[in-house]
Amino acid sequence: MLDLAIIGGGPAGLTAGLYATRGGLKNVTMFEMGMPGGQITGSSEIENYPGQSAVVSGMDLMESWPAQAMKFGLKHEMKQVLKVTKNDNIFQIELEDGTKQEAKTVLLATGSVPRRAGFVGEDKFFGRGISTCATCDGFFYKNKEVALIGGGDSALEEAVYLAKTCSKVYLVHRRDTYRAAPSTIEHMKHCENIEEVTNVDVEEVIGDNMGVTGLIVKSKQTGETRQLDVPGVFVFVGRDVLSDCLKQEDGNYLCDVNAQGEVVVDLRMKTSVPGLYAAGDVRIDAAKQVVCAAADGATAAVNIIEYLG
Ligand code: NAP
Repeated sequence: MLDLAIIGGGPAGLTAGLYATRGGLKNVTMFEMGMPGGQITGSSEIENYPGQSAVVSGMDLMESWPAQAMKFGLKHEMKQVLKVTKNDNIFQIELEDGTKQEAKTVLLATGSVPRRAGFVGEDKFFGRGISTCATCDGFFYKNKEVALIGGGDSALEEAVYLAKTCSKVYLVHRRDTYRAAPSTIEHMKHCENIEEVTNVDVEEVIGDNMGVTGLIVKSKQTGETRQLDVPGVFVFVGRDVLSDCLKQEDGNYLCDVNAQGEVVVDLRMKTSVPGLYAAGDVRIDAAKQVVCAAADGATAAVNIIEYLG
């Protein structure tokens, strides 16, 4: 029987693991099906993590976190959690290999995954010229032209990153103003090889047996279409939370969630079910920052220790 099962090994899960084990909990396991570190390891440049004034990659930022938590006793199981249920005040955690694990408390720190934009050709060419990770795939387009879709922080930051490797980046956005932070917009505007293609809808990504060959966009003002001949398209249109493991047999979630499936928590990261907590991007009103996810994890762990008495 675990004192605490942490689901997800990003900044929230790892920080919760550190605080819970260092705070005295003996039996704490973090279930993370991939390498610990979380979605931030796909970001190429972080310049707003406090105390870290040099611009670092997400991979570099997270490198030391797992070892620090494991030093105090956090265990890692590289398994996917399919379902969490609760009976007689004990949580049952169903794992991908068909086994079950019991726990007195559970912290959901599963974060989110890149959202699909929904244009024609997106599914067909995903992984064959369409990517959601500039750090992972940018190098394949060295000295080539690429297109990038989106107008938030992720899109503009990754456009700036890609502009260093690629000969040209078309920044394709459905409006003519951006959601990104002003400083990020300024960085983007200073890149001479970024061409802004705004106020357009993405009609289709086209390609052949080898992969993507272009992107067709349509002006919202004139209705004119334009073909951008690029072998690579990067999509950064937001993220969807991963809370499906809370779905029960009857289709309802184990605890309260909002219309987007984000878990409702209070300021202690408590959900509507005693002993079940949520932290990081999977919760409502998340600021979606590494520092905030880490703080959520610490807050949850402190309250879980108190709950277990
Ligand atoms: P986001 O802020 O939700 O932006 C998504 C962008 O994609 C928006 O510009 C949106 O357009 C566009 N979009 C959405 N659906 C689309 C579709 N179907 N087709 C075309 N365009 C579409 O997402 P994000 O950039 O991934 O950021 C998520 C959160 O993480 C934000 O809170 C952000 O501040 C944070 N973040 C912070 C940092 C940082 O601080 N360094 C870095 C990355 C992310 P509209 O603007 O028209 O809605």
